[in-house]
Amino acid sequence: MRLRNIPGSREAIAESRWCVQEPEQFKGNWNQIFGNRNPIHIEIGMGKGRFLMANAQEHPQTNYIGIEKYSSVLLRALQKMEDAPLENIRFIRMEAESITDIFEEGEVGKIYLNFSDPWPKDRHAKRRLTSRQFFARYHAILQKEGCVEFKTDNEKLFDFSLEEVEAAGWTLDKHTRDLHHDQAMAQGNIMTEYEERFSSMGNPIYKLIASR
Ligand code: SAH
Repeated sequence: MRLRNIPGSREAIAESRWCVQEPEQFKGNWNQIFGNRNPIHIEIGMGKGRFLMANAQEHPQTNYIGIEKYSSVLLRALQKMEDAPLENIRFIRMEAESITDIFEEGEVGKIYLNFSDPWPKDRHAKRRLTSRQFFARYHAILQKEGCVEFKTDNEKLFDFSLEEVEAAGWTLDKHTRDLHHDQAMAQGNIMTEYEERFSSMGNPIYKLIASR
């Protein structure tokens, strides 16, 4: 997701109480930010944050951190939080590649990847959020029982991701090529912005859950 640059979005993020500035400082101490020891679930590439906010509302005993690289996109999430604040959410504007700089080993309970950028060129494969290089980063921050949940409407990216789960030495716990018609996996499903858009166009939604 890339929106037109919005003047002032960087400043709004710098001033927002929902955005964590200099997140490296909190490595190993994210519980302090939330003031409790509840599990921390993160979404990488959260877009406008709708999935994260719906989750946070449904699960007040879980803390959520949304990561997004573009300030113009993140700004939309901030605007929603001003209208309907949720104490168990924080946002970070950053490039996910440096995720191991901000979370300690075992600090994250679950990682959500929703409709991640496909990076279709082979030479960009390692930029995909489900590449083996990213699984190695997730390995470094996820607690032992933690998992990665990935949804997409992009079949090629999904096939690639299945291969990468194996190449990374992870276990494929569950997967489906049509989430919305898979009764078991669709139970409690929270739709993302992209999911709503693509499924209303008739595209099937693919999902996998992987752990170690
Ligand atoms: N998860 C949302 C948005 C999907 S679009 C939804 O399902 O509706 C993918 C989003 O991920 C975009 O907003 C993009 O800016 C962000 N993104 C992609 N690669 C990223 C990276 N490496 N680090 C941080 N954010 C990233």
